[in-house]
Amino acid sequence: MPDRSPGERPPTPDRGPRPPASDGGPWEGAAGRLSGLGVSQGRAAGPMIRLADPPELPAPRPVADPGAEAATVAKALAAVAAELNRRALAAGGEAAEILEALAMIAEDPMLLEEAERLTGDGHDAAHALDAAFAKHREALAALGGYLGERAADLDDLRHRAIAAALGLPMPGLPSPGHPYVLVATDLSPADTAGLGPDVLALVTEHGGPTSHTAILARGRGLPAVVACAGVMDLADGTVIGVDGGTGEIAIGLTESETAEVGQAEDARRARLRTSRGPGRTADGHPVRLLLNIGSAADLERDAAQADAEGVGLFRTEFLFLDRKQAPSFEEQVAAYADVFSGTEQVVVRTLDAGTDKPLPFLGLPQEQNPALGVRGLRVDRLLPGVLDTQLDAIAEAARSTGAEPWVMAPMVTTVGEASDFARRARARGIGRVGVMVEVPAAALRAGRLLQEVDFLSIGTNDLAQYTFAADRQHSALADLLDPRQPALLELIALCAEAGRRAGKPVGVCGEAAGDPLLAPLLVGLGVTSLSMAPVCVPAVREALAGLTLDECRDRAQAALD
Ligand code: PEP
Ligand code: MG
Repeated sequence: MPDRSPGERPPTPDRGPRPPASDGGPWEGAAGRLSGLGVSQGRAAGPMIRLADPPELPAPRPVADPGAEAATVAKALAAVAAELNRRALAAGGEAAEILEALAMIAEDPMLLEEAERLTGDGHDAAHALDAAFAKHREALAALGGYLGERAADLDDLRHRAIAAALGLPMPGLPSPGHPYVLVATDLSPADTAGLGPDVLALVTEHGGPTSHTAILARGRGLPAVVACAGVMDLADGTVIGVDGGTGEIAIGLTESETAEVGQAEDARRARLRTSRGPGRTADGHPVRLLLNIGSAADLERDAAQADAEGVGLFRTEFLFLDRKQAPSFEEQVAAYADVFSGTEQVVVRTLDAGTDKPLPFLGLPQEQNPALGVRGLRVDRLLPGVLDTQLDAIAEAARSTGAEPWVMAPMVTTVGEASDFARRARARGIGRVGVMVEVPAAALRAGRLLQEVDFLSIGTNDLAQYTFAADRQHSALADLLDPRQPALLELIALCAEAGRRAGKPVGVCGEAAGDPLLAPLLVGLGVTSLSMAPVCVPAVREALAGLTLDECRDRAQAALD
């Protein structure tokens, strides 16, 4: 994409329902369409369900019949418990235990008694529940320790109970008992990580292409569309088709069209499953194709199918997104060792907490401008023990498995930060130390950084965010975040050239690496590896195999020009 001159309008994404297109294809019979940004390849079709926001507590109303309010209270708490038990049954395993424990809290007779008593004092059902939950929460918090931390769980139960009392849809992830397309205003990474197997696809009204929710969806191979205006206005149960490549949403598909979409998607996945072997251009120039993962489970599920050459980005913070208590040293060792035993080469990224990936257990202070605040490596300034413990755990996991992981830090800005990180990692016996290039200042000093570390990994998601001063989650700025922008490509070229001079690897691990149109261009700029969600590997492998290195360079030059 070329730079735009001042005053020129950015391309306006096609938005809002419109009549069916006449170009045939699987969406031909749709009654209407919406469009957003496709962020995770694949198609799916099914009934949609909206993720409800927490209910707003209306102004208290005068109570004429306290008995009726008390009955509403009891019914609401019972409905919450029933919903959680139903989800537990569907989830099984550890998730079931957690959901059952929550259901038991909703059924706690003391909670019910307190809320009923409050209705007797003249409170309506919703306010009685609100006050009873607040009291319960306070009592738990006062206990401190593990039970104190469970106090936050009560908030979810409170929202659910109040919604039930007000006759509103229950907030939180739905569990209708059949496959569905999840539609939401926005989704947190923790919501996305907790999605069950009954979710066919994701569509959100907000969000950008490199938001962590999009990344998690891609990691799971779930078709996803973000920045889709109007989708929350559709009724629950509407059968929609989702194209995670084009960003198109077709409204009102018939049963046979829905089945057709499923069959076509199965066929596409089967075709890509046959793609094998190391990454090479048509004339044999090697490009390592690596995986972005968040846990050993990602590896177990997808690595064999992708047939990649290792893991290029292990996002360790994804292991602990919903944790309210810090993971212990032993727990970290076990989680890292699981990944090290699953594949030969792993690049581990130390915790990248902050902004859209808050780690509650860190207890970081609220910030005015979190993307420019204490995130990534910068957390070490406030909480030095966290990085040291993690490096110890990585080193211990390496020793116990015999693996030789490469370790890199996120959000490195200065040469001083890089050299301090390298010193601390090497002191623990970690052999290959690198840094991510996500901040323009780091890209501009790539040559100097490579005097301190063994490799660079370019995080194009954040590098675009910080180069163009455009929030990576902001749906209205998505065009600015397009990694084809020459300014971003120039920064990548600087890093690749520094790597070539130093004889050290420089890879890309941002979402750009998994785009089959962009991957050849990145190779043309000189990057030596591409790390991506496992589902992206086959298409990128195919794209590289179709072009010589010179053709990749021509494409890169054309984009720079
Ligand atoms: C990036 O910024 O490109 C990157 C790979 O890191 P993350 O998306 O996890 O911030
Ligand atoms: Mg990043």
